[in-house]
Amino acid sequence: MTVRTRFAPSPTGYLHIGGVRTALFCWLFARRHGGQFLLRIDDTDQERNVQEALQPILDGLRWLGIDWDEGPEVGGPVGPYYQSQRGDIYAAAVKAMLAAGHAYKDFATPEEVQAERQAAQAERRSFVYSRRFMAETPEDEARFRAQGRSCVVRLKIPREGKLVVHDLIRGDVEFDWNQEQDHVIQRSDGSVLYHLASAVDDHEMGITHVIRAEEHLSNTPRQVFILQALGYELPQFAHLPFVAEPGSKTKLSKRKLDKYLKNRDFAQLMELGRGIARRIGCTISEDLFNPVVVDFYRIVGFVPEAVVNYLALLGWSLDDRTEHFTRRELIEAFSLERVNKAPAAFDPKKLLAFQLRHVQQLSLEERTAAAMPYLEQAGWIAPTPAPEVKAIVTRVVKAAGERLRVAGDILNYPEFFVPYERLEFEVKAVEKHLKAADTATLLARLIEAIAGVDSFTPPALEAAVHSFVEHEGIKIGEAIHPLRVALTGRTVGLGLFETMAILGKDEVLARLGQARHRFCESGRENGEGGTR
Ligand code: GLU
Repeated sequence: MTVRTRFAPSPTGYLHIGGVRTALFCWLFARRHGGQFLLRIDDTDQERNVQEALQPILDGLRWLGIDWDEGPEVGGPVGPYYQSQRGDIYAAAVKAMLAAGHAYKDFATPEEVQAERQAAQAERRSFVYSRRFMAETPEDEARFRAQGRSCVVRLKIPREGKLVVHDLIRGDVEFDWNQEQDHVIQRSDGSVLYHLASAVDDHEMGITHVIRAEEHLSNTPRQVFILQALGYELPQFAHLPFVAEPGSKTKLSKRKLDKYLKNRDFAQLMELGRGIARRIGCTISEDLFNPVVVDFYRIVGFVPEAVVNYLALLGWSLDDRTEHFTRRELIEAFSLERVNKAPAAFDPKKLLAFQLRHVQQLSLEERTAAAMPYLEQAGWIAPTPAPEVKAIVTRVVKAAGERLRVAGDILNYPEFFVPYERLEFEVKAVEKHLKAADTATLLARLIEAIAGVDSFTPPALEAAVHSFVEHEGIKIGEAIHPLRVALTGRTVGLGLFETMAILGKDEVLARLGQARHRFCESGRENGEGGTR
């Protein structure tokens, strides 16, 4: 038997951490067993443009390397893979269920059903529909229709007995039929509902293992009922534990961003993302800009392998110890037996730690390649930059080292890419380090000293500045801070000498001259201008 799994998102326009964890487990299981992974779009309830809402989901999966063998944009032998396009298949299934007596046409109005429900509530008993408007014969149907009624199709759920479903993670799970309702499977307009569509598709698409989130466990008896009513073989079921909020057992939700931001680690992730967004000048849709949404990680420049590695541990472990896996290792090691029943808490701090570890494993070339698109998007470099520009990016990436936690962090270094005139200067830094009475003189002398440095390397520059301060009888900070602010507009950044070496001698001298003219009072009074 070839294993076939499926991920069946409803196109809501974003891929949630919990959702992608489900997709990853389905994918890992299929890959582990040399089977197929299908992507099916559960869009029976969609009013909005499906393709538009679907794109972020497809992009997110592709970015993470969760590729599908059959599905949207790929096709396959048992398509279409959009439920909205499979109406005929569902209609035939509904007809077969009616013919076999496992479903019935119900002519009650919603108000009549609601009244029964309220009566049950008032009497404190559980609601069981009376089937008062069930059409058992063509005559019933004709009579109801003559009354101007229309019908839905309901499942004819047994009123007693139990169903035992074997779950690969939870073992045997028992359901009492009397806890179930006669669920509607087809509306009066002929459209079908999730349970019917899902069960029929799982059969039609040859799904062998239905691996999905725990919240669907309660749907399983209805779907098993449908599958059995149609005489179909049951797939195996595996319900994954839900992904919980940081440090808790409550389900992670996209809507609670405000609450999560009280969590320091979440707040840190968001701050990182916001900084990047600000610099790109891009208005990332608020919908995606949330660390519960996978696009967030793509946008700020996480390494997909790091995210995959972390997600794999949300509910699965090899031995409760090993944490770092390559994709190949995950495929080889993954098994449903090692999936937990308990909720798996999402820990943003840990995800960031995985990211840092993965970044360290990338080559300088890979890290540079990852940074380039951000610089391009910010308009700081051209789409196909000259080799000299690329060389500068490489030097900045190298010098930044671990300070580049994510690729988008490259935008923390505008001083190397934005023309000097357009750099933002921190007002406080300028006040503190460039406005002192004697700074104009200091900068003039520094220009002189630096002009005499022939090999513009960090050690040579360091030696030159050290001998300068010794000669002037000042403290090192008195030279270093004004230099840094004059060159970059800020008090933080890469090592000063590294910064100077990357900028190059001409640029450094030009900037110092210009800063002196622009910021230092006495520099202007003397009428001495910058060098450009
Ligand atoms: N469309 C459902 C969801 O998004 C899929 C449920 C299932 O896997 O059966 O939750």
